[in-house]
Amino acid sequence: EFITMPTYQDTQLFINGVWGPATAGRVLPVVNPATHAQIGTVAYAEKADLDRALDAADQGYKAWRKVSAFERCKIMRKAADLFRSRADRIAELMTLEQGKPVGEAKLEVLAGADIIEWFAEEGRRAYGRVIPARAEGVYQLVVKEPVGPVAAFTPWNFPINQAVRKLSAALSTGCSIILKAPEETPASPAELVRAFIDAGVPANVISLVYGSPAEISSYLIPHPVIRKITFTGSTPVGKLLAGMAGQHMKRATMELGGHAPVIIFDDADIELAAKTMTFMKYRNAGQVCVSPTRFLVQEGVYKQFVEKFVEGAKAVKVGDGFDKDTKMATLANPRRQAAMIANVDDAKKHGGKLQTGGYPIGEKGNFFEPTVITELDKSAAAMNTEPFGPLAIINPFKTFDDAVTEANRLPYGLAAYAWTRSAKTANHIAAQVETGMMTINHLGFALPEVPFGGVKDSGYGSEGGTEALEPYLVGKFITQAGL
Ligand code: NAD
Repeated sequence: EFITMPTYQDTQLFINGVWGPATAGRVLPVVNPATHAQIGTVAYAEKADLDRALDAADQGYKAWRKVSAFERCKIMRKAADLFRSRADRIAELMTLEQGKPVGEAKLEVLAGADIIEWFAEEGRRAYGRVIPARAEGVYQLVVKEPVGPVAAFTPWNFPINQAVRKLSAALSTGCSIILKAPEETPASPAELVRAFIDAGVPANVISLVYGSPAEISSYLIPHPVIRKITFTGSTPVGKLLAGMAGQHMKRATMELGGHAPVIIFDDADIELAAKTMTFMKYRNAGQVCVSPTRFLVQEGVYKQFVEKFVEGAKAVKVGDGFDKDTKMATLANPRRQAAMIANVDDAKKHGGKLQTGGYPIGEKGNFFEPTVITELDKSAAAMNTEPFGPLAIINPFKTFDDAVTEANRLPYGLAAYAWTRSAKTANHIAAQVETGMMTINHLGFALPEVPFGGVKDSGYGSEGGTEALEPYLVGKFITQAGL
């Protein structure tokens, strides 16, 4: 089928109210992952640009913190409306640069608008408290103040979703923000910033930069203007940045990698579990931090589940992101395709049985088959590090305790899934798995109003729910006596 490619646009920096090139004029190429063709460029910020952004963030913070939560809310709601009204165009940009099916990209934009609205409202409810005093005439108050200018680092798998959570939390609480968005997928997050600015967020409150992630983070994190760091990405990089933040006494929120277990008990609705989990596994080609990865299936239903899941995986239509029938598109970069090839090779050496998939597709792009491997040994690479691609690993288990032990074996603790018809088993499994989030018998993660974050090596802090505002707020204690 012939597909007309929408146009792409070069991405510039946004600093102090101006969209423009980097001072030194450097750019990086942006490549369409489905074709490997260069489609545009992104401006590459250097120290002089970062200094301008820091200055803007400093000034912007001083002004924005004085704008009432009521006014901030109105501006943010307008940004949500603008962003939503531009969803079709922004989705096209995202598919061109990231690869994902354009329908998924559009849902990400629409969900982004919902997130902006939710934070806009929640910022109005950043209540402090009054503590009863010991002496008459004394008021003891805890007043919530914004923490200050934020440095945010976001990845390429959800170019909007990761950025909108950080921007919305910062703006709703009165913080300014410098966003270092992903160089590989720069145009769609730039449109997010544009929606905020067009809606009336003062220009110096948001800066948008791209460049060398390591150079930018090592300059911004220690800088005295910056008061808070927030990062979404891999655990090794997260530890590096959290270490730097600690050294400079900066608050940090870390949303890092996972290796989600999916525990399927004998009494589960196997049909529904297989159907739901196939969808979840191959969504965004598995490049999702909460992607289900280690399927642990109780012996009695093991064969049946594998059969159904493999059937589902085989039916996933892989194709171009602009083809409306496509359910899974290209991986976002050649690193992921290489990682998938390495994972499958290594799994074969560790006795894994390749049930379906396992190979790249075609000559162009980073396409890879929806893959299922069963009976894989714990020592295999994919059993220990996040595949971050379209790979499901299915292994059998005997008892409840065996499942818990395997689920908790890894240092990660971001998301977990369970399927059972027993309320008792559901209660126990939710209590015993070490995880930041657990979804049982359905998919229920990532709504704006619910917490989103991990434990252990998956990071700390939440990017959803009322918890998401706290890291951007400082409780100032004021005790005041009447004269
Ligand atoms: P990577 O580990 O080099 O980078 C991950 C992210 O961190 C990227 O967005 C990158 O720009 C950023 N980054 C890297 N070094 C940085 C630094 N010194 N300072 C600031 N930012 C820095 O690898 P990658 O190939 O881009 O991604 C692969 C792995 O990253 C995946 O296997 C997955 O584990 C993880 N990842 C996780 C998420 C998530 O949603 N939690 C998103 C993207 C990638």
